[in-house]
Amino acid sequence: MEFSVSEELHTIRCSVREFVEKEVFPREEIIEKEDRIPGELIDGAKKLGLFGISIPEEYGGLGLNMLGRFLVSEELGRGHSGFSGFLGAHTGIGTSGLVMAGSEQLKQKYLPSMADGEIVAAFALTEPDAGSDASNMRTAAAKKGDRWILNGVKHFITNGPEADLITTMAVTDPSRGSRGITAFVVEKDFPGFKVGKVDEKMGLRGSHTSEIIFEDCEVPVENTLGEENEGFITALKILARGRAGLAARCVGGCKRLIELSLDYARERIQFGKPIIENQAIQWMLADMVMETEAARALSLQTAWKVEQEMDIIMDAALTKLFASETFCRVADCAVQIHGGMGYMKDLPIERLYRDARITRIYEGTSEVQRMIIAGQLVKKGY
Ligand SMILES: Cc1cc2nc3c(=O)[nH]c(=O)nc-3n(C[C@H](O)[C@H](O)[C@H](O)COP(=O)(O)OP(=O)(O)OC[C@H]3O[C@@H](n4cnc5c(N)ncnc54)[C@H](O)[C@@H]3O)c2cc1C
Repeated sequence: MEFSVSEELHTIRCSVREFVEKEVFPREEIIEKEDRIPGELIDGAKKLGLFGISIPEEYGGLGLNMLGRFLVSEELGRGHSGFSGFLGAHTGIGTSGLVMAGSEQLKQKYLPSMADGEIVAAFALTEPDAGSDASNMRTAAAKKGDRWILNGVKHFITNGPEADLITTMAVTDPSRGSRGITAFVVEKDFPGFKVGKVDEKMGLRGSHTSEIIFEDCEVPVENTLGEENEGFITALKILARGRAGLAARCVGGCKRLIELSLDYARERIQFGKPIIENQAIQWMLADMVMETEAARALSLQTAWKVEQEMDIIMDAALTKLFASETFCRVADCAVQIHGGMGYMKDLPIERLYRDARITRIYEGTSEVQRMIIAGQLVKKGY
């Protein structure tokens, strides 16, 4: 396996790190307090090409390979999870369907504006009665001349309130179950498209989720993504790649927590000495690093497999499961090391603790990842 980083990739990674440290860190409090991403950060991300990391160069993106995307997402993960979640939903689940399965016409039409951040993307699969069991969706699409007419409600859609273009899954042949679902790219300005309730969440401030409502929403047939009735397979492929990106953000979050914990443990004096001199604290830090490095190695292996065009269904599930659970364990240790200060809003620790929690739920819960892993084991062996 080859993980060596080219000079170009190294430069991109350093620019993102500098951007996160100089621009994102100082604005984390604003994001938390005002639940919005400051315009300067959006502009900065546009300037660095961060909206287009997964879009091929021919359509105006950076066209990074999976290793490159991992490194960028890892750096962004060190910053505010709301900001990295907003960008991650755009560059990951919001974009990859179009890149993987879009017609040339759709790619030419949308990808350049998505790459420069003029079009914000989202991905709408989940519905109130179809979460883990996504194939049980009710949103339906019926063909009428040169249009599809969509009816139904999606919920918990990241970037829902902001998105201009939404990769949407809908049932086109109810008699065929998951083989009767088609993917569409839906513009927010199509007639019958509406943003519904915006959610109040535990964390991820600045990253908004909402309902998306389709009421006789008219979608031109050319906005069908991939083949008719093959949308669920497309959704699974989108999610598998999305999970790899999410794992990278988890690793970045762990790194930030370790850095903060190490600094705090060196500075905090109790019983006349820095708390880092206690083995109990050292062992927590050692475990935090051990698990983070293991999550990183697993993520890199999955990224490499994507590049080799290998089947990553099981790898993506393993990676997402391990990285998200590691993020939560590391966040828990970080709170412990910080004592009461870990619980206070003065430091980023309590925010990271809240923000880590969602990673075990979205893009497939931990239970669903275990189901995927076990399912692959039963089917293919180890
Ligand atoms: C902040 C946020 C952002 C999101 N962004 C998006 C987005 O951009 N696009 C999108 O489409 N969706 C999005 N989602 C939806 C997310 O993917 C779902 O919430 C997730 O898949 C779980 O579905 P659910 O919430 O309906 O939980 P449920 O499916 O109702 O699950 C509830 C519990 O039951 C468990 N469970 C369910 N079935 C089984 C089983 N067979 N065996 C064992 N345990 C089981 C689950 O693991 C979970 O613990 C987002 C959600 C949140 C909270």
